[in-house]
Amino acid sequence: MDGSVRLDEVVMRFGDFTAIEKTTLEIGSGEFFSFLGPSGCGKTTLLNMISGFLTPTEGRVWIGDEAMGKVSVNRRPTAMIFQNLALFPLMTVFENIEFGLEVRGVDKRTRREASEKLLALVALEGSGPKQIGELSGGQKQRVAIARALAVEPRVLLLDEPLSALDLKLRQHMRAELKAIQRKTGITFIYITHDQGEALTMSDRVAVMSAGRIQQVADPMTLYRSPATGFVAAFVGENNRLETRVIEREGQRVRLDAGNLGELAGMAGETVILGNGDRAALFLRPEHLKPIGEGDAGPRLSATIEAVHFEGAWVMLETRLEASGEKLRVQLGHEVSRQYADSLDIGQRMTFGYDPADAVV
Ligand code: ATP
Repeated sequence: MDGSVRLDEVVMRFGDFTAIEKTTLEIGSGEFFSFLGPSGCGKTTLLNMISGFLTPTEGRVWIGDEAMGKVSVNRRPTAMIFQNLALFPLMTVFENIEFGLEVRGVDKRTRREASEKLLALVALEGSGPKQIGELSGGQKQRVAIARALAVEPRVLLLDEPLSALDLKLRQHMRAELKAIQRKTGITFIYITHDQGEALTMSDRVAVMSAGRIQQVADPMTLYRSPATGFVAAFVGENNRLETRVIEREGQRVRLDAGNLGELAGMAGETVILGNGDRAALFLRPEHLKPIGEGDAGPRLSATIEAVHFEGAWVMLETRLEASGEKLRVQLGHEVSRQYADSLDIGQRMTFGYDPADAVV
């Protein structure tokens, strides 16, 4: 069963407003693929073009080897899970899961067999006769998944399905969703503005901003080699320093950071840099570490303005002495214990980083 999805130069306009700029993208069969971006960037619009709720103004959507142009929503090999789950509150779990099959004329025995199997898949054995109102948030979530899978879609579309759950349950359900996806081998297309969700579950993520895909990559690559400033700022956390290029030596770039002196980082994959060009240097808080007088490499001296103890780490808000810019520094448990005496407001510290971890 080919659950691949191809967007072929699709554009979506609402009147004069272009919600999706020309986009071409292939999602592999059996892939867990996420669209990640801030509110209003066009995630739902893209999903709705795949499900058939919206027809692209230009371009075509393919599922497997079939163009979806003339295929209506309920004839597409897709199923959708919405943010509010849209379960039927006055029906039992069985009735909810079997609804789509009943509409398709599947007989009662086959329906029941299918829903028993699905309840086992989502770890809700024995809950079939329960009313929806008797279930917890996480259990409702599982019923929604089982109901969506009952019609045997090749592609499951998920529109921020975990956003109504509390933090603990959300984290638990991430692992469950991923496990269900692996077990079934169905293509999952997930949209979210929560980078944690996208990074933990996905094989690949498309980061979107203002109707445009900024980068498509696996989570590790997005984190290590953001292709644009938007991705660097949106995925994980980054300090941003304004600099100028002194010289590029392969991927490594020497930078003039004004009063901060000379710094260094690695050129982003798609970035073209000439000597003297303005360039943003991105430094992740967790890549900065306290250094001493004798240590080589880039040096950033700063004054601590706030100390946030987060349990497993300490987040420092500091201000760079030479430029007055803010710098956030995350110290792991060991390091923060080692420097416990220095971690006070008003204390001076010098931080270093490995240029291999910094993106220009
Ligand atoms: P959210 O995370 O808030 O749901 P989103 O990334 O899913 O955001 P979309 O719902 O796809 O964003 O909307 C993208 C843009 O298109 C928004 O500016 C929105 O106002 C606009 N838009 C969406 N649907 C319509 C419509 N039917 N008519 C006019 N504009 C629309």
